[in-house]
Amino acid sequence: MQNSQKLISIVLPVFNEEAGIENTIKVLEKFIKYQADQYELIFVDDGSKDKSVAIIKQSQNKYQNIKIIEFSRNFGHQLAITAGIRYANGDAVIVMDADLQDPPSVIPNMLQKWRAGYDVVYGKRLIREGETLFKKLTAKIFYRVMQRISSIEIPLDTGDFRLMDRKVINALSKLKEPEPFVRGLVSWVGFKQTCVQYERQERLAGETKYPLSKMIRLASDGITSFSDVPLKLINYIGTVSILIGLIYGFIMLFHQFTTLIFATSALFILSGTIMLGMGIIGNYLFRTFDASKRRPQYVVANSYGFQSNCKNIKNIKTK
Ligand code: UDP
Ligand code: MG
Repeated sequence: MQNSQKLISIVLPVFNEEAGIENTIKVLEKFIKYQADQYELIFVDDGSKDKSVAIIKQSQNKYQNIKIIEFSRNFGHQLAITAGIRYANGDAVIVMDADLQDPPSVIPNMLQKWRAGYDVVYGKRLIREGETLFKKLTAKIFYRVMQRISSIEIPLDTGDFRLMDRKVINALSKLKEPEPFVRGLVSWVGFKQTCVQYERQERLAGETKYPLSKMIRLASDGITSFSDVPLKLINYIGTVSILIGLIYGFIMLFHQFTTLIFATSALFILSGTIMLGMGIIGNYLFRTFDASKRRPQYVVANSYGFQSNCKNIKNIKTK
């Protein structure tokens, strides 16, 4: 098949994006037709409570290649991506946010590298426009810590904005983790990977759908999926605590001090450390417990615009 005839899928997770989704569709439709002869836009609605789905459905009257997967509730950004790439039919699949923070102008570079033989082309953020200092700083620290402690190579400053070849999508579609950390899994599956650098744009409309609680959860999923360093850390802290306790005991024995304040603060520090250790173990244990339930990762309430020739999913309900 000639390159120009290949199908490009664009997957966009959507959660309460009524303020900007119409513009996103307009911009993408205008842009992508010059990049690929065949394309599909797959919107995964992650349990929006606003008019997002209605707006996307309406745009199906105007554009032929818009498809929608509607979750039964909010399952989270990472699972919305997971579902979207499973439903995608493309020879290459591009994942990007629905708020245009990942600029479509990067897509030609991604396609060029894919056509040159790369299987994964991830977007590497040079700067992040319009985000709080707190978010920029915590993200910077997270990616650097992650790189040091994880068992796989996760590139610095990359989100989920990336192009993946069909081979990669097929490999990813087989993974069934209940709380996937998609960018880690893409590194895990391997293949020939490269990056394109880009400047992350300001959100054009609406608010972020990633409050601190969701950011912490994502970070925790990333760490517990790809690193055992926190577990090892408990051993080190425990060993050091015992040593300090022994040294302190000897000092007490020889000098016969009774420093109550020191003993009380040591008690707080040690019991805090024990609780923290239990919490860390609990996080890992919860992942195992969650996986042992073998529930489906998400529930699709409806899908619109899909034909029966999907490569990955059979018997998709279409309306
Ligand atoms: N999103 C989602 N489910 C969620 C939260 C976010 O599908 O629970 C989508 C959201 O609509 C957007 C993308 O994931 O398309 C990234 O979210 P957002 O822009 O709010 O994150 P930020 O850019 O602020 O980190
Ligand atoms: Mg955003």
